[in-house]
Amino acid sequence: MASQPTIYGEEAAFTRRGVAELSALRCVDMVLDGCLMRGNMGTRSTMTQISETTLRTQITECTRMMVMAELLDYSGHVSARIPGTDRFLIPPRDASRAGLTPDEILVVDINGKVLEGKGPAPTETAIHSGVYRHRPDVLAVGHGHPPMSTLFTMVDRPMVAVRNYGFRFIGIPIHADPTHIRTAAQGDAVARTLGQCSCCLLRGHGSVVAASSIPEVFLDSLEMEENARSTVHACTLGKLLPITPEEVELLKVSFARNTYRIAKTWEHYQEKAKLVGML
Ligand SMILES: [Zn+2]
Repeated sequence: MASQPTIYGEEAAFTRRGVAELSALRCVDMVLDGCLMRGNMGTRSTMTQISETTLRTQITECTRMMVMAELLDYSGHVSARIPGTDRFLIPPRDASRAGLTPDEILVVDINGKVLEGKGPAPTETAIHSGVYRHRPDVLAVGHGHPPMSTLFTMVDRPMVAVRNYGFRFIGIPIHADPTHIRTAAQGDAVARTLGQCSCCLLRGHGSVVAASSIPEVFLDSLEMEENARSTVHACTLGKLLPITPEEVELLKVSFARNTYRIAKTWEHYQEKAKLVGML
């Protein structure tokens, strides 16, 4: 049975302008020590403008769009913290990622215990709960098995930037444990690997993206995979010419947490998904 959505304050208009305004309030990016760090991502009071109903819709759309973009397959999951609580929303383990509906999504506590909805929760809910426990600033988490990004966990070669937006993924941390992340202790360990970064990779396994909104999870997942794909393809042509540290400084102007790009990308993929029947 579908759980009753709870409205937390004023509904945020999910338009390009609305996203830009919200994101501008809560997100400033810095690149420190080779990985994208998040700072000043705001308070829960900001997020109280987003209702559980909106979050359920965003998780559904993000999941289907990530399947379409081959960032998720039959497995992997996107979650969102319910504003002002220690609970989060996550799709059930067995729901098709290609056909997920908002009313299927579970409410779980900060330790991953199902509170509302028909479970079970995904086997790797511990990834999400670990990040939410350790990072109060994180409001949305994505875990998938993107094939190109995951290649960088299989070689002794850190992620570099070859696409202009790719500097945000230079040297992202890699979690050494290649097994399923099933326990709270494993979730804590993933959160420690993530640290204050916005994403990390799991060896031989996949990715974890931590953000302040579901559309940011989508953008970061998309751009990390595109940068990885370009790197692999470029290697087949010749010597890599990665973005330099000096160029990173110049690129921050356009490609640090540039709020309009979050909404522009989201809306583009929404329209594309509608055209192919994924939304
Ligand atoms: Zn996984």
